[in-house]
Amino acid sequence: MRFIAVALVCALLSACTVTRIDRGTYIADTRHHATSVDSRVRFLVMHYTEIDEAGSLEVLTGPNVSAHYVVPDAPAIEHGEPVIYRLVPEEKRAWHAGVSEWQGTTELNAASIGIENVNLGPVDTPQGRRWQPYPAAQVDALVRLAKDIVTRYAIPPTRVVGHSDIAPQRKIDPGPLFPWRALYAAGVGAWPDDADIARHLAGRDPKSPADVKALQEKLRRYGYEVATDGVLDDRTRNVFAAFQMHFRPGDYAGRPDAESDAIAAALLDKYLR
Ligand SMILES: [Zn+2]
Repeated sequence: MRFIAVALVCALLSACTVTRIDRGTYIADTRHHATSVDSRVRFLVMHYTEIDEAGSLEVLTGPNVSAHYVVPDAPAIEHGEPVIYRLVPEEKRAWHAGVSEWQGTTELNAASIGIENVNLGPVDTPQGRRWQPYPAAQVDALVRLAKDIVTRYAIPPTRVVGHSDIAPQRKIDPGPLFPWRALYAAGVGAWPDDADIARHLAGRDPKSPADVKALQEKLRRYGYEVATDGVLDDRTRNVFAAFQMHFRPGDYAGRPDAESDAIAAALLDKYLR
């Protein structure tokens, strides 16, 4: 009776804090607050869906795969704001990044929010393989969403990643046309400074070969799961390509060149010194 009275008063006075939660078979006393806690969400992972909006929603609400958000390629606008699908509550684990690793954390589903962007990925045309652009309205919606998420969870720049960054042996999404730069300009994710790249190039031809082991070591420090044995095998090449797709999308052939080496050094200087 006393509880009901308190609850009633609290319902009327929103400033009142409820310290008892009646869960039907017991009461939870919430007057004491621990300080040694952190958030489930420590990473933000970007994807593309490879299919249109209707197909994306069908697949991502079916078995095996899901994401917290789906950003349409042509979002509806309500009251001047883009409408983004939220399929999974943020406190729950969505299934978008199963076998994955970043900065030593594996199985990133447990520790991330996943955003799927409606985009067809690479499409074979008579002129060859063509990546599909991310339209400006979609980028605008994505920026609003990502900025809100990194702000609310204080996600650091180096932990805003693509699926290809955390699973470079299996995945190529969100692809070389993904708007990493626009996100960076809005305060989301990492981007190297040109002056730092020039300083680390130190007069080298950007296309000249870089030391494989040195680049492996830099990318491992940055977050990639890569060997540091100096061997340019397929696995290492896939990691170099994933890094280039993110930070040097004009050439992502996976060759260890001086420019990639300088970009990696510039990122480490800026974010993980
Ligand atoms: Zn993906």
